[in-house]
Parts: sequence; structure tokens; C-alpha cells
Amino acid sequence: TTLFLTYGVTNRKNPLTQKKRKKANPLAINVFIVNFANRLNIINNKNNKTVTETKYIFVTGGVVSSLGKGIISSSIGKLLQARGYNITIQKFDPYINIDPGTLNPYEHGECYVTVDGMETDLDLGHYERFTGIQTTKANSLTTGRIYKAVIDKERRGDYLGKTIQVVPHITNEIKRNIKLLGEKNHYDFVITEIGGTIGDIESAPYLEAIRQMKWELGKNAVCVHLTYVPYLKAAGELKTKPTQHSVKELQSVGIQPDILVLRTEKHLGDGILKKVASFCNVDFDCVVQSEDLPSIYEVPVNMQNQGLDSAILKKMGIEPGETPALGPWKSFLERRQKATEEVHIGLVGKYDLQDAYKSIRESLSQAGTYNDHKTVITFINSEKLTEENVAEKLQGMDGIMICPGFGQRGTEGKIVAAHYTRTHDIPTFGICLGMQMIVVEFARNVLGYEDANSRELDEKTEHNVIDIMEDQKNITDLGGTMRLGAYECVLKQGSRAFEIYKKEHIQERHRHRYEFNNSFEQEYERAGMKCVGRNPESDLVEIVEIPGLKWYIGTQFHPEYSSTVLNPHPLFLDFVKTAIACKKGKK
Ligand code: GLN
Repeated sequence: TTLFLTYGVTNRKNPLTQKKRKKANPLAINVFIVNFANRLNIINNKNNKTVTETKYIFVTGGVVSSLGKGIISSSIGKLLQARGYNITIQKFDPYINIDPGTLNPYEHGECYVTVDGMETDLDLGHYERFTGIQTTKANSLTTGRIYKAVIDKERRGDYLGKTIQVVPHITNEIKRNIKLLGEKNHYDFVITEIGGTIGDIESAPYLEAIRQMKWELGKNAVCVHLTYVPYLKAAGELKTKPTQHSVKELQSVGIQPDILVLRTEKHLGDGILKKVASFCNVDFDCVVQSEDLPSIYEVPVNMQNQGLDSAILKKMGIEPGETPALGPWKSFLERRQKATEEVHIGLVGKYDLQDAYKSIRESLSQAGTYNDHKTVITFINSEKLTEENVAEKLQGMDGIMICPGFGQRGTEGKIVAAHYTRTHDIPTFGICLGMQMIVVEFARNVLGYEDANSRELDEKTEHNVIDIMEDQKNITDLGGTMRLGAYECVLKQGSRAFEIYKKEHIQERHRHRYEFNNSFEQEYERAGMKCVGRNPESDLVEIVEIPGLKWYIGTQFHPEYSSTVLNPHPLFLDFVKTAIACKKGKK
């Protein structure tokens, strides 16, 4: 007897084929398995079409900025993924810049880069770290990009003589970009985070687009609104009024939030949650609180415990069913809580701002957990580093990270740090400009070229060990024109990098204009700095290392963009592991 197993939901094709098969073999038994838990996924993945339409979750913020909308959006994504849904997360930034690539990190923190080479807001880093998805250009939009698309269409004459207005042309372009993402990859859920705060002039077109989409899509669109409940010390009270006002502001533009997430530093009792629910027209089980937690990675669990994901599903008319276990995520958290022994990493950079090196900090912190240690990061301002004070400033560090960056400021300090760590054999990791400074230091102090530098920092130097690429020379527009996104790199067998990655072909993301100058390669190789990773097409050097030292590696690419909670990056894991070993050796 033959047993045919087929699965799906309302797929008619399979039973028909089974009928045919049964004709040929009368003994065949047909079994049609319906997997309801994963139903959307099966339809999407096996038959490449959506039976159920894509659903849209909008995340907005009120009262103040920096509430962590990105973390909440990522947590919602994570929780829906755990239920078997295919999700993506998108960010709209209401500023006029086309992308944040030209922004000073002091403005919005680090610039994150997607595999397809989009320079984006750092929230996309959270999306990837939490969910393991890979975002693309379509996941990051700004008002600048929306307007540019509309204006380009107008210049082409696509609007056939119409007057172009914020409503409907800009709002339609916003809606088109939201829906396009959902339709393109047949996602079950598209989570769209709107940057900024409700009430900002810049946010108005986005809110109008959300209002329209909620109206058009009914249950298939919900709005999660994040607000802040301050604690007034003098009064000894938690205040909900700002939340009420923020919701009123949303209601005044025609949006009734479905879910409220209240950010708070103190625990909110049921009384407060009930008050907010009744004053804001929101169901009681749709008001959750997001208290400050020791780690952002605890947020998804906290949200799940309060039923945020099931509240969203119920609002959308989906029976939530059983709560998924979040096994590997919880194991990571447990390991993190147990890891109390410290490893100290110094970040040598020029931006004294937490968010400026966000992905590097997160990657180091994840690597600490996987090595059962707590990574303690100390920022070391490279502008203030000199030959005289370097020993003192780097004291107590088990490893040194030389950070990426642009421009002259602080680069001499990075070279001083690279010199000190190379000559004192302290584990050192240079990323992008950090790698370039490692290369320059070696040229100055080992190859004997005192004036060695990067062409970016000294246009006239004869020893331009880091140089500008031919195809970059005539570029006048600075935005979006660097070497951006993922490129292939082939590792040299027998190198430390190869040993760490355990494979020959890797893909890593780039964001730079300058490159190792291959005409100096022989000299470097002879003197002990090896070029161990290169791009197979362009022959550009992507990784340098000094084999004799404990850990001295520079990467032209940015490995920090692809380290996630459940898939930490091997270079960070090995760097932190070596730093821990060195620390133990010192004792
Ligand atoms: N400024 C350097 C370049 O453009 C390095 C950039 C970076 O560190 N991301 O090549």
C-alpha cells in the first residue's frame, strides 16, 4: 500500500494529484495533513502564494523620543516568529535626508548597513539582532526618499498634469512602500515603525497613511502605541496624563490605537493600567507595561509574559493558541544572567556616545555571554590618546577595539593605541577605519615610512598605504556612493581568520571609500602583517592579521552588522575568548 502525505490548507491541487495517483494505484491511501499552527508559512513557502493577506502592525511613539520603539518592534517580530509566522520590520524616518549615511553619529547614533548596501537607522540593527531576518533597502525609508520618488515621478510626467500634494500623493507613496514590502516576499506580518514622536509636524503624512490603511484593511492592521508614564518623585506618583494626551493626539488624526505599551521606570499596578485602558478606549488586556530591564534582550520575554503578541493576534481576529516556548532565546538569557565574571574591552573611538558604536557594543556583549562572561566596555577617546598617556588609559583592558570612523579627528590616537597593543601583545580588533589605522601604524613603525597614512587623512603622502579606489576618485556626491553592502571574501587557508570562520568563502558588509593599497602588500607580508582575506573579483584586501601575536586582526568590512543574539559573529566570539584567556594568563 502506498501512503501519500500532502499538507496545506485549502490547496486544491494536491488532492487532485492524489486522485490521479490513486487511479494508477488503487491501493494508495491519501492523507491530507493540515498544519494550522504554521498555516501561513506553509502556504507561503511551499506554494509561493498567500492565501491569507499580509497583516500590518504599526508602531508609533508618544510623549518623548528614545522610548525604545525599535526594541518593541523587534520584540513583536520575535514573538510572532516564534509562532511560526514569516515577518519583516520596516522603519520610516521622518527626516528629509535620503538616508542617514551622511549624518553625523552624534545626530542619530550609528549608521547601520543592510546586505544590499542601504545605509539605515540603527533600529534595523535591532530588528536583525532580535529576529535574525536580513533587512534590505525596502525596510528603511525616510521622508526624503518618499518625496524624491514623488518628485521624480512628477518630472517624468507620470501624474498627467495633476497638482501634487501631501495628500494623496505623499501618503499614497508611503502606503505603496508599506504594502510593497508585504507583497514582495509574502510576509504574514509587516511591522512598520514610525520614527519620531506623535505631534511632530514631520510625522503627519505617516499618520494619515496609517489612518487610511487601518480604514482600508480593517482587522488586518493594528496600531501599537508606545508612551511614557513618568514617576514624579516630589508627588510620589506615576502620571498617566501624558499618555492620555498622546492618545488624544492620535485620535485627533483619526487613529485609535489598538494596543498601548507603557514605558516606565517603576512597576505599574493594575489600577493604573485599568485607568489608562478606560481613558484611552483600549481593552484592558491590550495595555502592557515595559519596565526598565537589565538587558534589552529580556524585553521579548517580558512582552510575552504580558500577552502582547496574543493581544495583537486577537485584535486581528486570529486565535492565538498556545504560547510558544522561546527556548533558545531563554537559554541565552539564562547564560547571560549567570555570566558575572567580567572581561574588559576598551573601545578606542572619537564619538563619546553610547549609540555611535551600537552594533559593535552589542556584538561584544553577545560574545561575552557566549564565553560566559559579562563584557564591560570602556570608551577611550582617541582624540585624547598620546604616546605619554596610552599605557595609563589602556590599563586594565583585556582587549582593545579600534573603531570605524571618518575624517582626521582622533585618528592619531587610534594609531597610538594600535602601536601600544601591537608592541604589548594585547588582543586588538580593528574595524574599517580601525583596520586602516592598524595598517598605517605598521607602515610607520615597522616598514619605516614615517609619513605613511591613508589618502583620506593626508592627500599628499607618498606612502599612501590606504588609498582611494580608482572608481571612487571622481565621485562628487557623498551620499550612498561608498563601497556599501555585502561582498564576498576568500580567506587564506592556514590563517587565523580561516581558523575562526572555519570556511574559505565568507560574505561581509562594507561601508567605506578607502582600501588597502596592494602595491605595498609584499612589504607587509615580509615584515609579518599578512593579508589573509581578499575579494575574489577586485582583489581588494579585506582582512589583515599578525600571526605571531595573540589576536591582532583588522577587517576592512563591518562584522558587527551581522552578529545576532542566536547567531553571534565568530570574529567577536574569538576576540572576546582570547581577551578572557589573556586576562586569566595575567592573574
Ligand atoms: N573613512 C574610512 C573610509 O571611508 C573608513 C570608513 C569606516 O570606518 N566605516 O574608507
